[in-house]
Amino acid sequence: MNKLFVIGNWKMNPLSLKKAKGLFDSIKRDFKSVKKTKKVEVILCPPFVYLATLGISSSARRKASYGGLVIGSQNCFLEEKGAFTGEISALMLKNLGCKYVIIGHSERRKYFQETDAMINKKLKIALRIGLIPILCIDKISQIKNGMKEILGKDIKKIIVAYEPIWAIGTGKACGYKEAKEFNVLMKKVLGKNHPTLYGGSVNSKNASGYIKESGFHGLLIGGASLKPKEFLKIIKLMVEQF
Ligand code: PEP
Repeated sequence: MNKLFVIGNWKMNPLSLKKAKGLFDSIKRDFKSVKKTKKVEVILCPPFVYLATLGISSSARRKASYGGLVIGSQNCFLEEKGAFTGEISALMLKNLGCKYVIIGHSERRKYFQETDAMINKKLKIALRIGLIPILCIDKISQIKNGMKEILGKDIKKIIVAYEPIWAIGTGKACGYKEAKEFNVLMKKVLGKNHPTLYGGSVNSKNASGYIKESGFHGLLIGGASLKPKEFLKIIKLMVEQF
């Protein structure tokens, strides 16, 4: 295990800039107390509207002025530029200072009818622009379909998160054994060293098991990423794995 990822997906939260700033500052402040290691990458994915106003910028990223935290976005559009009212380009995100982008989250597949073909376009654009994609899946077929026509050297850059739909936001996390079985299937397709994550009702009580028992390279966290103390506990548990 070379590196672990802890990704906070804020989804459509919080509902005001003031609260978003409060959450961001609180995580940044507490994160200062965590033993620094390049082996754990902590990525926050706030809603688009807060990215710039939270002080996220390419120069801030260069200076690592989020105190070691890294910024990602929750989505991007499937075209790089053009007349697409209301959409956000991967290039805008990259230019703003984002390093990662979540693609194909099950909520986007369900509520916005995102298909594997659309997700494939988004992956290609993110890779071309230089954003690291975090591809969310809950079926093995979504890996091959989403990665169609993507070259092996680029496939290596895609982090793949297993998120069983029934476990997302329900408080019913997947058992370690079942998660491990799915992880083994993912590694058969992707290669044994490919970074794979688990997501679905992760908290500080169950987090470590997905690394130690199920063999994942990190966690994609929704609800618990909105609770700074709980999120920090999970980060500390990941740092302790090394
Ligand atoms: C998610 O948003 O991807 C997620 C896994 O949410 P939660 O941790 O709340 O289940």
